[in-house]
Amino acid sequence: MTDQPTAPFSPDELARFGADPLTTFRDNLAAVEQRIARACAQAGRNRAEVRLLPITKTVPAHVLRLAFAAGIRDFGENKIQEAMGKHEALSDLDIRWCIVGHLQTNKVKFLTRFAHEFHALDSLRLAEALDRRLAQEGRDLDVYLQVNTSDEDSKFGLHPDELLPLVEALPRFPRLRPKGLMTLALFSTDMDRVRPCFARLRALRDKARAVDPRIAGLSMGMSGDYELAIAEGATVVRVGQAIFGARPTPDSLYWPGFAPGAT
Ligand SMILES: *Cc1c(COP(=O)(O)O)cnc(C)c1O
Repeated sequence: MTDQPTAPFSPDELARFGADPLTTFRDNLAAVEQRIARACAQAGRNRAEVRLLPITKTVPAHVLRLAFAAGIRDFGENKIQEAMGKHEALSDLDIRWCIVGHLQTNKVKFLTRFAHEFHALDSLRLAEALDRRLAQEGRDLDVYLQVNTSDEDSKFGLHPDELLPLVEALPRFPRLRPKGLMTLALFSTDMDRVRPCFARLRALRDKARAVDPRIAGLSMGMSGDYELAIAEGATVVRVGQAIFGARPTPDSLYWPGFAPGAT
């Protein structure tokens, strides 16, 4: 597997991924895995309760072949166009595509063709559009409802008050398989401000689960805060840069209005 041919690397790619990305990805995965295991042990949780969802945005398709060779099967992407391109380029590999970013209703038809999971369901309109398209495609979709837990206007996601009405409407959409809630915590290095976002999502999950027992999961935690998220009950951690290195793109590309250093 290690001598699998890949396209030559550009200088930028070499700078980001190094000369031997396969080894780098394996090492990074092992380090993340160790930290997940430690965080689970410290929280008195079973390792099997937490799933690592690697976030592959900005990593080009030919490099992702090496991520696949390193054992990654679930690929998380923020933007639907980018995900579609990679899905086409890597259609020979058995990959589960997981879309974790905001989706406009007019892009629903792209997602329902190939995605296995969607972590950013944030409106009734979107639920209706997804369910209708999925019925046409004869497919089902695992979904997480995204909630804004940081009270920042810049974030996508349901206001906490909007959550239960959407949960109550979910049985109308038989093609959607609700799995849990998702959030992006406050962007801050101050963990005392990040942690309440995770705790808030967990409390909301308890309320939502009382209405619909399928809503059991918590998709929360990224490279900078996944151990804290595990301490607060995360069942899916979405980790990109800790595996694939620092991204060349600014976060404002994914979270409109996000001002670096604002917090
Ligand atoms: C990019 C992204 C992540 C991962 O962030 P990292 O800092 O790379 O770990 C998690 N969730 C969403 C929605 C993302 O877009």
